[in-house]
Amino acid sequence: CGIVGVLGNHEAAPILVEALKRLEYRGYDSAGIATLNGGHLDRRRAVGKLVNLSDLLVHDPLTGKSGIGHTRWATHGAPTVDNAHPHRAGPVAVVHNGIIENFREIRAELAEKDIRFTTETDTETVALLVQCLMEQGLSPREAALETIKRLTGAYALCFLFEGEEDLLIAARQGSPLAIGHGENEMFVGSDAIALAPMTNRITYLEEGDFAVITRSSLEILDRENRPANREIRTVSIKN
Ligand code: GLU
Repeated sequence: CGIVGVLGNHEAAPILVEALKRLEYRGYDSAGIATLNGGHLDRRRAVGKLVNLSDLLVHDPLTGKSGIGHTRWATHGAPTVDNAHPHRAGPVAVVHNGIIENFREIRAELAEKDIRFTTETDTETVALLVQCLMEQGLSPREAALETIKRLTGAYALCFLFEGEEDLLIAARQGSPLAIGHGENEMFVGSDAIALAPMTNRITYLEEGDFAVITRSSLEILDRENRPANREIRTVSIKN
């Protein structure tokens, strides 16, 4: 129910958890984060309040300066650790708000290729489709774009890729998503409120937007895959 992402210059885990706390007002049943440490993708997830995730991170920390995080309001699959986001398939991790309406159809296609599912969520299908396309030789960006084109329903998505310390991909269709601009840092949040401690310079994605984010750049394609100019606004948010 809440999405955050960071390409930063400091440890990502505390920033992600703090940003998720600022989205707690939306309600959730579980939470998780994934980071890249030396390019290696790893994640921690916990059912219940964010404090459970924080406790887990004390005992089993996640290092790395790039990461994504999520608070989940389960729509498909029970609120369990396995069903919690980020979902991972090989080199990709993804967080998702909303519902992928056609996930059963995509799931059936992937099952024909002997691709196995380990959760009951609509979101896992997205991760598996990206992985499948990357195995066919597509780059992370190409695989994410092809995947998004296949999806129907309402979603905000943010992807993190193994070995890609300077890349986040985000997409919006029916669920809001804000990109925050820092000093050689970039952030993603389902609400600018999540990003308030880090930055007040915000680009709001529009419906159908696909964003390729690095620490020093933001490239946006609109729903027709044309480069889109979205302004950077200075927002004022009361803490
Ligand atoms: N449909 C996804 C799930 O059930 C995402 C729900 C959400 O927006 O948190 O896992």
